[in-house]
Amino acid sequence: MLVDSHCHLDLLNLKASGGDLAAVLENAVTHGVGHMLCVSVNLKHFPRVRALAETHPRVFASAGVHPNEQPQKQPSVQTLCEIARHPEVVAVGETGLDYYRSKGDLEWQRERFRRHIAAARETGKPLIIHAREAREDTLRILREEKADQIGGVMHCFSEDWEVATRAMDLNFRISFSGIVTFPSAEVLKDVARRLPLEWMLVETDAPWLAPVPHRGKPNQPAYVRHVAEHIADLRDISLEEIADKTTTNFFRLFQGAKPVGA
Ligand SMILES: [Zn+2]
Ligand SMILES: [Zn+2]
Repeated sequence: MLVDSHCHLDLLNLKASGGDLAAVLENAVTHGVGHMLCVSVNLKHFPRVRALAETHPRVFASAGVHPNEQPQKQPSVQTLCEIARHPEVVAVGETGLDYYRSKGDLEWQRERFRRHIAAARETGKPLIIHAREAREDTLRILREEKADQIGGVMHCFSEDWEVATRAMDLNFRISFSGIVTFPSAEVLKDVARRLPLEWMLVETDAPWLAPVPHRGKPNQPAYVRHVAEHIADLRDISLEEIADKTTTNFFRLFQGAKPVGA
């Protein structure tokens, strides 16, 4: 079975994805996707994310504020620790830097990122990192704040092999999204071919970034199978091997997540 290591179940277009959340979860299981991590993007939605994880044993939650959310409202380390301590929360994030969508003086983003790393270190829960057009600052702050002591995942990885090796040096896994299935993503496909399987995760980032053959349509966790199939093809190995390894990696990294049936 596969795990979708990063999705936003609370933000899905349910009408376009089977009607209701039960249908989405059933479709995931039908496609061999047994578990999913529903990622928090702001404090207002966090209770919904948490409730999803409480209600559905196949769903886990994270706690955090996305780098592009509400520049004027900065969460304190204490608040982040409080929400991260809930038992169904297995990770801190998504956090990081996004210089693509936010412009101007982004010191507030870097400060927010540092606070999330502090909360992760304090609660012992790994980090989910979102980095866009900010690779050097992201790696620098991870290093400065000793994020390697807690580790985590570079979600929706879209950089080159050099950045991948630097992320692994800092104890961060590499998670591939539907981007790796896009024909133009040659640099990323190269990373997917070379990455040691022990460091690999897969995700959808649903409702965004649907993989080929659903590109341009609303995404859902079931489609992580297409991401995994594509990587299996790139490496000339079986889908089962990708599924086994990435699922093992997921539960090893997010120790708070308990698999259904285990
Ligand atoms: Zn993200
Ligand atoms: Zn996300």
